[in-house]
Amino acid sequence: MSVLVYIENWDGKFKKISFELASYASSIAASLNVPAVALSLGKVDNSELSKLSVYGISRILNNPDERFNALDNQAIAKAVAQAAQTTGATCVVLAHNNLGKAIAPRLAVKLKAGLVSAVNGLPVSTEPFVVKKMLFTGKAFGHIEMLSAVKVLTLSSNSFGLAEKQVTASVEFFDPEMVDADFHIQIKQTNKVTGKVLLSDADIVVSGGRGMKAAENWAPLEELAALLGAGTSCSRPVSDEGWRPHSEHVGQTGKIIAPNLYFAFGISGAIQHLGGVSSSKVIVAVNKDPDAPIFEAADYGIVGDVAKVLPQFIEAVKEIKS
Ligand SMILES: Cc1cc2nc3c(=O)[nH]c(=O)nc-3n(C[C@H](O)[C@H](O)[C@H](O)COP(=O)(O)OP(=O)(O)OC[C@H]3O[C@@H](n4cnc5c(N)ncnc54)[C@H](O)[C@@H]3O)c2cc1C
Repeated sequence: MSVLVYIENWDGKFKKISFELASYASSIAASLNVPAVALSLGKVDNSELSKLSVYGISRILNNPDERFNALDNQAIAKAVAQAAQTTGATCVVLAHNNLGKAIAPRLAVKLKAGLVSAVNGLPVSTEPFVVKKMLFTGKAFGHIEMLSAVKVLTLSSNSFGLAEKQVTASVEFFDPEMVDADFHIQIKQTNKVTGKVLLSDADIVVSGGRGMKAAENWAPLEELAALLGAGTSCSRPVSDEGWRPHSEHVGQTGKIIAPNLYFAFGISGAIQHLGGVSSSKVIVAVNKDPDAPIFEAADYGIVGDVAKVLPQFIEAVKEIKS
């Protein structure tokens, strides 16, 4: 028996979310008293793979076939299912990101497993197996009992954190039965955005709403983001207006993020917006309306005009940095 965690790589490297998943899987494995096994598919250096042992993974399975790097979720689901069967996994953990969300249901079907997506903490109990997740756009927590023999979980990012627990690990070649027809996608060319912090990776996010008034007012917000090494996001009306790209829209119908620090400039704090950001560890809001609902969700609030507060903010950050 085991707990299996699928660890995605980005150009052969792992990210913080990879180690958070490893930490989470090994903590569940410890409570079930079984080993934590990680599966990595695609080309990843051995030195990178062995970093997983810092987070309690004692067995690391790897297949360096570069066709897995195309992130074909059907092919990956097939390989993860075989790894789960080989290792006798009773619990399989994936990231709650684009790839994890695509693999998890396929995997659940293949393994005849129950699936709970976007869990945000360790199981409340393992016998019975009860997990916790947010419901109703973050307004409530649900405790869900999983009755199936095998459980598939996707973990919300930044909800568990890193838990170091160095163990001795073996790195093993894993050889799933795959045929050419399993690989449906071939990447011909990749164009990467450079010099910007990806929203999904950002520890700090600077966000603007309709209170920013116009697209041309975003320069100070971007300056602040650059100073803080932060990602930028926006409310939905802002991207609907075309002031910012849709890729920056956060909320119920946009991206769901959980940075350590979230700045909301000129955002009212509608429930649909908070649904995408309320798991942020600290929320700082600037709004000219003292009754704006964002202040109920915020840890720190400034009542004021963004046009005046933002430049002062930037100066203060520059001063601290110098
Ligand atoms: C089904 C559905 C799904 C939705 N999904 C999303 C979603 O995913 N994400 C999302 O964001 N929204 C979503 N919405 C829209 C949501 O309901 C709100 O309308 C939206 O979040 C409001 O955006 P906002 O706060 O930028 O704008 P507003 O509500 O117009 O708020 C602007 C705020 O800026 C303040 N302000 C104005 N001028 C200044 C100034 N000079 N200085 C400081 N503060 C100022 C105002 O006091 C106000 O609080 C959804 C709506 C529906 C119905």
